[in-house]
Amino acid sequence: MTTTLTLPGQTWPTLEPGWVWLCGAGPGDPGLLTLHALNALQQADVVIYDALVQEEILTWAPQAEHIYAGKRGGKPSAKQRDISLRLVDLARAGKRVLRLKGGDPFVFGRGGEEAQTLVQHGVPIRIIPGISAGIGGLAYAGIPVTHRDVNQSVTFVTGHDQSGNTPGSLDWQAISKGSQVIVIYMGMKHIAQISAALIAAGRGVGEPVAVVTTATTSEQRVLETTLGTIVADINDAGLEPPAIICVGQSVKMRQVLDWQGMAAGDAPRDLDPLGRGRPAESA
Ligand code: SAH
Repeated sequence: MTTTLTLPGQTWPTLEPGWVWLCGAGPGDPGLLTLHALNALQQADVVIYDALVQEEILTWAPQAEHIYAGKRGGKPSAKQRDISLRLVDLARAGKRVLRLKGGDPFVFGRGGEEAQTLVQHGVPIRIIPGISAGIGGLAYAGIPVTHRDVNQSVTFVTGHDQSGNTPGSLDWQAISKGSQVIVIYMGMKHIAQISAALIAAGRGVGEPVAVVTTATTSEQRVLETTLGTIVADINDAGLEPPAIICVGQSVKMRQVLDWQGMAAGDAPRDLDPLGRGRPAESA
């Protein structure tokens, strides 16, 4: 079955009773929701949302019950099981359930775990991807997560494991050597250990780093720093999570590509941020 969203000529899937749609809400700016997310918001009986979902987005589901299922900061996962089972119960009660998660549900969002529990209990699901903070949040700071002049690879890492510690399973040597750009989620708590591990693995103390907090919202802040000074600079700036941390030369592209506050008539930014000559026009 399909239902109509107010875009001409398009039909959209129906959120049926007894289903759970696991949906990404993007990093913050409501305009970064997908059309499938909007379609889901308009149909849901219940929206179960996380801490990082902006309140404004919920106003687009006025007919629905809104249930907060926030978890922050790598706490143990006992509650995660409760959330997953609550989704099962709501679906079994015949609700149209929208599980709304910040960013993309399958990127460090425990969406995979929730989906697994639902499927194990015979609850049908649909996955609606979202714009992940590690891509969209950096874009709002003028940092392209890949750029041909900078990197042919990017690694997304989490600064927490399930116990809340720096992930012991991460091979910082390998990441450091193998990935020109490293994007760190949930990195604030353990930034001292993470930056030390990267330096010990051979990344320079002068390597550029950007810390983008509450990215894509009106509260967004961007700190440009280096691996050697990041801990002091975060403290001095008084930055708080949520933050996405980008390590690598792509941070320098911000000098040219920071688009916030641009105005027509601004002077051209004829800069060479990487100091390697101008990028080729074509090819
Ligand atoms: N599923 C989410 C990530 C959830 S983990 C996604 O795809 O984006 C939570 C972490 O995501 C935060 O600790 C932070 O590192 C990052 N994050 C999410 N939203 C953010 C935002 N608006 N600004 C900066 N970081 C954000």
